[in-house]
This record gives sequence, structure tokens and C-alpha cells, in this order.
Amino acid sequence: MNWYAGFESAVTENVPLAPKTWFNVGGPARYFVEPEDVAQAAAILLRLRENDIPIYVLGSGANLLISDDGVNGAVIHPSHSAFKTIEFQGRNVAAGAGTDVQQLIRQCAHKGLSGLECLAGIPGTVGGEIRMNAGGAFGDIGSQVLDVTVMDLNGQSYTRQRDDLVFEYRHSNITAKLILAATFELIPDDPNRIAEKVKEIWMFKRNSQPLAENNAGCIFKNSNGTSAGQLIDKTGLKGLRIGGAEVSTRHANFIVAKPGCKAADIQALIAQVRKRVQEKFAVILETEVVIW
Ligand SMILES: Cc1cc2nc3c(=O)[nH]c(=O)nc-3n(C[C@H](O)[C@H](O)[C@H](O)COP(=O)(O)OP(=O)(O)OC[C@H]3O[C@@H](n4cnc5c(N)ncnc54)[C@H](O)[C@@H]3O)c2cc1C
Repeated sequence: MNWYAGFESAVTENVPLAPKTWFNVGGPARYFVEPEDVAQAAAILLRLRENDIPIYVLGSGANLLISDDGVNGAVIHPSHSAFKTIEFQGRNVAAGAGTDVQQLIRQCAHKGLSGLECLAGIPGTVGGEIRMNAGGAFGDIGSQVLDVTVMDLNGQSYTRQRDDLVFEYRHSNITAKLILAATFELIPDDPNRIAEKVKEIWMFKRNSQPLAENNAGCIFKNSNGTSAGQLIDKTGLKGLRIGGAEVSTRHANFIVAKPGCKAADIQALIAQVRKRVQEKFAVILETEVVIW
């Protein structure tokens, strides 16, 4: 009997992960798990734990580099409708972890609720953006969070309140494996003004990032407030290429995957960029992109 007996409808074996990520490279997941609801997610997590199977959680794959060998474990993808709910209550909105953040921003703008537009143009799900504390020059997701509901490896879910949560630059103190949902506290504003702000931020990003090519956003974190992109640019690495991976000529902290690119090309380019920046500036860049 295999470990997922009773959960056959939620588990698929050997699923290619490349098309599920923005880089569009990398190998398959040994097990790809799409739970139907929270109760099934809990039961599956417990079963995975009992069987010592490593667990990974996939959002929209906008910050992920999957290695060419793929993932020898179970990749949980909260993609069913039970994880994509959006519920408004006064000035608060509760959203499931699988909710697309751009869709959430649009609905909030329509309702005249401001706060999430700082995330315009940042691809991701609510779960992925909370995990990474996604954001940028205009603000981050953590600043709007009222509470986050999570599930631990025992399948227990609980809600953590704002007072207990710490959101820092591309990091939060949430350690539970699976984020299930979050509630955001927003500010009433004119829907047209919010929509204008969304458009402005979107245009800013479109003009500064290589959005037409496969990429995973910023590869490295800024280092103590120093822009990683500027360090890479000043090292003269824009356009540096290994195999199908290239340091974007548009934004030095982006790597773009050209047709035929392998995950190994991107990993080699990351190592090369890190080495060259360290040689020039004595700064060791830490990756922002999550590598599986
Ligand atoms: C063109 C482009 C522009 C970008 N610009 C920005 C930017 O300006 N600012 C910024 O911060 N980021 C940016 N990014 C990176 C990316 O958008 C963010 O990191 C986003 O948070 C990724 O969300 P995701 O759902 O795709 O997560 P994934 O990439 O799928 O996963 C990222 C991490 O979150 C974890 N995770 C995902 N879902 C869950 C969950 N439900 N529970 C627990 N853990 C989970 C994963 O295990 C992984 O560790 C950009 C990416 C691209 C491609």
C-alpha cells in the first residue's frame, strides 16, 4: 500500500514542475499534492510526516528555482477553490493562501479598500507573498496583515495575530509549513484613486523589470540596505551569460532564462555573480530566490 491510500484524487506522481514556475525550468515533483480542503490538507500532512516524506509548498512559483533533478518529496499546492476564497468584512479582507494577489488587489480596489496596491505587479499567491513578505519601494504585504492562519506538520491549524507576527525585509517569523489564509486590514478610499495608484506602480515595474522573459524576480537580497542590483551592475555583470541563463540587461538583479535554459545554468550564474561581487566589494550576496 502506498502512503497516499485514500487520497488518490489529491496526489499525482512525477509531475513536471517547470511549467508551474516563472523560470519554467527544473525537474518533476515525486508527489504533487492538491488537497481539496483544509481537512484533507491536515490528513495528508500527517500521513507525509508518518512516512518521513519531505514536504514543500508551492504558490505560483514566482520566486522558485527548481533543480534539474526535481524534488524528491511531496509538493503541496493549495490550488483548489477552498484555498482561494476572498471575503470582505467591513474594512478587512480575508483571503485563502492560494488566492492570486493581483486578483485580490483588483477586488479591494473595486470595493474602495486601499493598502494592497503596493503589491501591484508582484506575481504570487497570498501564501507565497506572506512567506516572503513580498514588497518593494511602495510597501510590503506584512504591513497590512491582521492575522495569518497556518498549519503545522501535525495538521494542526491555528491563527497568529498581528502582535505576534514579525515581518522584515523578505522575511517573516512564520515557521509553520503551510500558510492557509490571511486577513488584511485596509483603509477606505476612492476606488478610482486606488485604481490609479495600482496603474502607476504597475507601470513603474513594467519599465524597470524584464517582464517579457522567464525570470523569478530579484535573485539576491539587498545587503544591509545596499542594492544587490547596483552591486551587480557596478561589477559589470549585466548581460553575463552561462548556457541559457543571462543576467538581465534591464535589471541587474534579475536572471532571465532563455529558451533551452537549464536550472544548472541559473545555479552556475548565481554562483558566478556572487563570486564576482564578493571579489569586487567584499559583500557576500544572499539569495532571495528559493532553490529546491
Ligand atoms: C517578474 C517578477 C517580479 C517580482 N517582483 C517582486 C517584487 O517587487 N518584490 C518581491 O518581494 N518579490 C518579487 N518577485 C518575487 C515573487 O513575486 C514573490 O517572492 C512572491 O512572494 C512569490 O509568491 P508565490 O506564490 O509565487 O510563491 P512561490 O514562488 O511559489 O514560493 C515562494 C516561497 O513561499 C513558500 N510558499 C508559497 N506558498 C506558501 C504557502 N501557502 N504556505 C507556506 N509557504 C508557501 C514556498 O515554499 C517558497 O518557499 C517577483 C517575481 C517576478 C517573477
